[in-house]
Amino acid sequence: MAEKTKKKETKKAEKTSAKKITEKSAPSKSEMKKSKSQSDLSAVNKLRLLYELQIIDSSIDNIKTIRGELPLEVQDLEDEIVGFDTRIKNLAHEIKEIESNATQRKIGVETAKNLIKKYEEQQKNVRNNREFDSLSKELEYQNLEIELNEKIIKELGAKVKEKRREIDATKTMVADKKIALEEKKHELNEITSETASDEKELIGRADEIKNLIETRLLTAYNKIRHNARNGLAVVTVKRDACGGCFNKIPPQRQLDIKLSKKVIVCEYCGRILVDSDFENE
Ligand SMILES: [Zn+2]
Repeated sequence: MAEKTKKKETKKAEKTSAKKITEKSAPSKSEMKKSKSQSDLSAVNKLRLLYELQIIDSSIDNIKTIRGELPLEVQDLEDEIVGFDTRIKNLAHEIKEIESNATQRKIGVETAKNLIKKYEEQQKNVRNNREFDSLSKELEYQNLEIELNEKIIKELGAKVKEKRREIDATKTMVADKKIALEEKKHELNEITSETASDEKELIGRADEIKNLIETRLLTAYNKIRHNARNGLAVVTVKRDACGGCFNKIPPQRQLDIKLSKKVIVCEYCGRILVDSDFENE
């Protein structure tokens, strides 16, 4: 019978790991009896320390978030600039090909013009109508050849113009991106140098506090913080609700939290709840 009850209790305790650890870390009844006022005081201090640690850890999180995005933004801009440079190179290569095509067409026009001159001379010395007609057909063909080539040359010229415009536009974009890149790099350097000392100080203070908090409670804190989306393990009561998950807290529980005599966790999200007055301390 006793075994069964024990099992049941274990199962219940396992339901919320945070709760389990908290319960374990709470002082035993005999300890409470030993020196009630002293244990009350240490409970308040414990909670205050936890809350202070939370604020420091959140500040460190903020620094990491700000710095964490900037290197990515710098990388993105550098990649974009490389991409644009490649586009400019490709466009320049395409222009060269088009221009060489146009040169061939121009040679074609000159060749046709020379042939026309030659056929016109020959027409002056024909022996019969058949020869004259044959040369006329050749002349007609060469004139069409000139017309076609000139049309294509015009089209190629337009294409080159369009590609040059694209190069200019891309160069403008590259210039803008380079300015943005310099700004981001500067910003990153400033933040890194600015926050480096802040971060070091915060980590130092966090370490000091961690030394004052018992290991089991600290482990629970870290576990809750790790699982919480916003990195919050210790929250205050806000408008009768948990400051972490915003679920309503029953009045009796709120009273217990206000007394700060033990570690109380939110029954919905498992976060450690502290009195809202802690915010002003
Ligand atoms: Zn909650």
